[in-house]
Amino acid sequence: MRLYDTRTRAVDTFIAAATVRLYVCGITPYDSAHLGHAFVYTTFDVLIRRLEARGHRVVYVRNVTDVDDDILRTARERDVNFEVLARSEAAAFDVNLRRLGLREADVIPYATETVPAMVTTVGGLLDRGLAYALGDGRVYADTGAMDGFLSFSRLDRDEALRQFAEKGGDPEAEGKRDALDFLLWQPSLPDEPSWEAPWGRGRPGWHLECSVMATEHLGPVIDIHGGGSDLVFPHHEAEILQAEGLTGQAPFARVWMHVGMVGLDGTKMSKSLGNLVFLGDLLDRHDADAVRYLLLSHHYRSEWDYTEDEMELAAAAVKGWDAAPDGDPAAAEDLLAAVGARLDDDLDAPGALALIDAAAGDGEGWAARAAAASLGFGGGGAGRVGADR
Ligand code: ZN
Repeated sequence: MRLYDTRTRAVDTFIAAATVRLYVCGITPYDSAHLGHAFVYTTFDVLIRRLEARGHRVVYVRNVTDVDDDILRTARERDVNFEVLARSEAAAFDVNLRRLGLREADVIPYATETVPAMVTTVGGLLDRGLAYALGDGRVYADTGAMDGFLSFSRLDRDEALRQFAEKGGDPEAEGKRDALDFLLWQPSLPDEPSWEAPWGRGRPGWHLECSVMATEHLGPVIDIHGGGSDLVFPHHEAEILQAEGLTGQAPFARVWMHVGMVGLDGTKMSKSLGNLVFLGDLLDRHDADAVRYLLLSHHYRSEWDYTEDEMELAAAAVKGWDAAPDGDPAAAEDLLAAVGARLDDDLDAPGALALIDAAAGDGEGWAARAAAASLGFGGGGAGRVGADR
């Protein structure tokens, strides 16, 4: 199988062991699942299915960031306990992923459950001279002391500063050795949760949470680390520095896979802009298979815009598979192999769909439906949601 690796910026052969350890950055559960989330998790759903079809066992960890600035602010605005908010939003999110037919993660760690290991990690980074405590409860990563800072994202300093500020960093904070040093630990406000730590009661930084949850559940070197392309910097750059700085083992992840952003009318979907297509709304109006088709008709690394027209075309394509005559079941073997080969080429799902469409168009409905099942079609729908209630 060949996969594009963000670290090397190249498509290369990925040699998978019997067990593949996969970590995908999960959600901060303060808002509903939108199409951008669905694109990320459907991508890894198809990857897992393909690896399993090739005989590998996949251990899939998807975390829940249940303590960070966003969720604490939202809990305050809504006047609810942050844990109640996180648990209820995470449950609602999972319902929509299940309606879409996505496989459950094997482990869904919550950041709040992993704080003791985060305290240990901060201590380890301080011991190694890769972090510094300011005496007021804040602990920062010392990016100047860490090997290879910005080599993962390949950003120049101005762009790094811009993204750092835009994505929740604190370049202007006083006392830092460098504007790009990122928080490992910070004191909590009076109404925020806090944990005991040698440098002061407080709470962990977001980047620290993911690297600790990943290594806690998958070990110091994981096979594939994934997430949305907006996480490359600073989130994943920071994860690498923390994990490799602490364990001394590199690479932290053998392959980094990043999924493109989904937009609406030319602008990336985001909560702050309010231009979201919610997954639940889409699944109320369309079959899970139609939504899956829409997502997989775009290569996972591409950036694309949602349009109603494409949604209708996706629904029509899936109907075409259902309506195609059975044809010769023996055609399934070749089609499955051809579809598998497309996926082995950096997860070329659009190419795989084109083969299935062509088979259905040729009257090979049975083969088309069998190949579609290998991409996870037929696994979603309201029935499964009802069964879980
Ligand atoms: Zn993460």
